[in-house]
Amino acid sequence: MSLTSRSAVITGSTSGIGLAIARALAKEGANIMINGLGDAQAIEATRAAIETDFGVRALYHGADMTKPGEIALMIETAQSQLGSVDILVNNAGIQHVSPVEDFPPEKWDQIIAINLSSAFHTIRAATPFMKARKWGRIINTASAHSLVASPFKSAYVTAKHGLAGLNKTVALELAAFGITSNCISPGYVWTPLVEKQIPDTMKARNMTKEDVINTVLLAAQPTKQFVTVDQVAALAVFLCTDAASQITGANISMDGGWTAA
Ligand code: NAD
Repeated sequence: MSLTSRSAVITGSTSGIGLAIARALAKEGANIMINGLGDAQAIEATRAAIETDFGVRALYHGADMTKPGEIALMIETAQSQLGSVDILVNNAGIQHVSPVEDFPPEKWDQIIAINLSSAFHTIRAATPFMKARKWGRIINTASAHSLVASPFKSAYVTAKHGLAGLNKTVALELAAFGITSNCISPGYVWTPLVEKQIPDTMKARNMTKEDVINTVLLAAQPTKQFVTVDQVAALAVFLCTDAASQITGANISMDGGWTAA
């Protein structure tokens, strides 16, 4: 249990990668604030399970990642209720798949807000608390799409490239304060986010579901396997250890070889 004195805020942790990271940090003893959308009862069950499974405190905050005021309140609440914000995982994200000329402007704005700007707002609010304790870990769930593009994902690719830039800037600014900032960039991870984009991709490319999985999704991934949420979570835990104190400003790929090509 390496993280018993730490508290972590994980955005977008009611499902998928964020939930796996939250549970993995809790397993190491960190107190947790989860965040995200979903059915209230299901979220409460998720929160309570973290407390009972790992014997830590777990809170839920429903801040909408498109609303800067709510984001600031979430960080302040974590600080006041958990005593510190030592680990910040910027993970909330959505996707929309469409040719650029049909891309709805409101979807563009929403993706930039959730996948990019929310990380600025959380970092801005959490940094003073991390500086005060001379220790911090910022982990941004970026994507292979922070390094390379795919067609029909203009907003997502733009947001993730932006997140990689924010990560580097923040790492430089905070390097002397015991605070690291890194991106984890998975390839395709089997989560609701990936499952939900299959119908739109079928439409955009006129393909069957099997074709989308094999020809579009796993085509890019030389191992021909999806990354698992637990693999991403294990890397996030490692980035919180002392062994990782000199890893900062990095964008660490976990993509089955995708971006090696
Ligand atoms: P997911 O859909 O399972 O989880 C997304 C989370 O974000 C959910 O908890 C959802 O409630 C939350 N969220 C969405 N809109 C929100 C809002 N307005 N305010 C607060 N929370 C909001 O998806 P996932 O695959 O686990 O994705 C998590 C992150 O990983 C995303 O940033 C995504 O871009 C990134 N990623 C995913 C993959 C993949 O293949 N699944 C690959 C690379 C990167």
